[in-house]
Amino acid sequence: MSAVPSASSASLASSSDAPPAVKLLIGGEFVDSKTTEWRDVVNPATQDVLARVPFATTDEVDAAIRAAHAAFATWKNTPVGARMRIMLKYQALIREHMPRIAKTLTAEQGKTLPDAEGDIFRGLEVVEHACSVGTLQQGEFLENVAGTVDTYTLRQPLGVCAGITPFNFPAMIPLWMFPMALVCGNTFVLKPSEQDPLSTMQLVELALEAGVPPGVLNVVHGGKEVVDALCTHELVKAISFVGSTAVGTHVYRLGSEHGKRVQSMMGAKNHAVVLPDANREQSINALVGAAFGAAGQRCMATSVAVLVGAAKDWLPDLVEKARALKVNAGHEPGTDVGPVVSRAAKARVLGLIESGVKQGAALVLDGRGVRVKGYEDGNFIGPTVFSNVTTSMDIYRNEIFGPVLLVMTVPTLDEAIALVNSNPFGNGVGLFTQSGAAARKFQSEIDVGQVGINIPIPVPVPFFSFTGSRGSKLGDLGPYGKQVVQFYTQTKTVTARWFDDATTSDGVNTTISLR
Ligand code: NAD
Repeated sequence: MSAVPSASSASLASSSDAPPAVKLLIGGEFVDSKTTEWRDVVNPATQDVLARVPFATTDEVDAAIRAAHAAFATWKNTPVGARMRIMLKYQALIREHMPRIAKTLTAEQGKTLPDAEGDIFRGLEVVEHACSVGTLQQGEFLENVAGTVDTYTLRQPLGVCAGITPFNFPAMIPLWMFPMALVCGNTFVLKPSEQDPLSTMQLVELALEAGVPPGVLNVVHGGKEVVDALCTHELVKAISFVGSTAVGTHVYRLGSEHGKRVQSMMGAKNHAVVLPDANREQSINALVGAAFGAAGQRCMATSVAVLVGAAKDWLPDLVEKARALKVNAGHEPGTDVGPVVSRAAKARVLGLIESGVKQGAALVLDGRGVRVKGYEDGNFIGPTVFSNVTTSMDIYRNEIFGPVLLVMTVPTLDEAIALVNSNPFGNGVGLFTQSGAAARKFQSEIDVGQVGINIPIPVPVPFFSFTGSRGSKLGDLGPYGKQVVQFYTQTKTVTARWFDDATTSDGVNTTISLR
């Protein structure tokens, strides 16, 4: 299976054998980079090179930011209804092209085709929500805050915003960012993951087709140098980052030092707490799906199951369900678990599994030896389960980001809550129970930003915001929903008084009161 970079995102000038070069988007034009540094985009199931992605030069990053800055002058004054209508067209185009983009996404990222459609769909929902920004971006008004004085607020766009995205959701996460930034009146420079930029570029092409004007959306590719250039450029006003904790912390610090507004959504270790009164079949299905779906490469994947009391006896069932999952290339029908994104990612996950064995955890399901017929070179790891895990082990202390589930047991709900709350991450957590009282206690006492009750991956729909917390996030405001409208706008407060000819003069007033 081959991914199909389209004419505008990948150069077709190269010979038919050479992989196409992914283009930059600057000022409305898809252009070839003049860089000398390139990286291959590789199909993780086959190791086929699908394309080459440039690491843009500093001058190219500067040109993209300046194009965005120039476009802002007009775009910020484009009526909100016109901006929303572009998003309305955009959502229709994404819907129409979803199967094509999903195919590319599976080829470059590895996840199954239905999951790739899910990736696009969760982003599409944000675009749909962007169509209603008119009510979200409204300010406040209060009449008569003092005699004949009114106060109101304007929510004005910031200017050039930048987005830096990870490999694991090449559709959803870029769509968390630029549609809401644009519809609020900002212009944007996107830096997609260099590991799988092709589906992102297809979405960018559709944005232009929907009517996003030249310069309003720009794309540069690259790694640390490009990211640092975005974080330090004088014309960039805000940065949205999603990715690992180490890089997110760096981006947050560097951007903040340079006076930018920054939101960083970062790594995770998500626990699912299972009480013995939970629906056994549904809960185990949910745990297995959330641990091994997308080969565990979701920031909201369940990576630790905490079995409370008698629920510890569910471990054999859980292991059997995990063992039954079908590991295969993402485009093969019936696949449950595709490959991890790269050979380096596979080596990292295998290293952590090895450390778990060495440090005394019980490897009750070992996915290391999995072989996939026809895809012998793929980066496959089968579902892997550890029990007897302690909090000091490397497998517990690190985000594994692979198809590995840790199982821990505790006697009571209180101990489960204490365990979760003492983990530094705060992205997501689940509770499985039939008890309303237990659920109410859990949601109140658990110190994690996104809670699922009998829901394994509680990523909120875009009417709400993504609210990861503690070690999983830096910055106050999360992606999409009302919070991101706040993030992408500056509130200006106007206090106004109008005199008509009949108003009698108050005389000079040297006190602070408005009267
Ligand atoms: P990553 O941090 O390696 O890369 C993210 C982005 O940063 C990429 O665009 C990459 O090019 C850039 N980058 C990489 N190294 C850099 C450096 N040294 N300096 C500056 N920029 C750099 O993350 P990833 O491996 O692509 O994605 C997986 C991670 O993302 C996991 O930790 C996962 O939990 C996290 N994630 C978090 C969320 C969330 O909402 N909290 C969502 C998705 C993924």
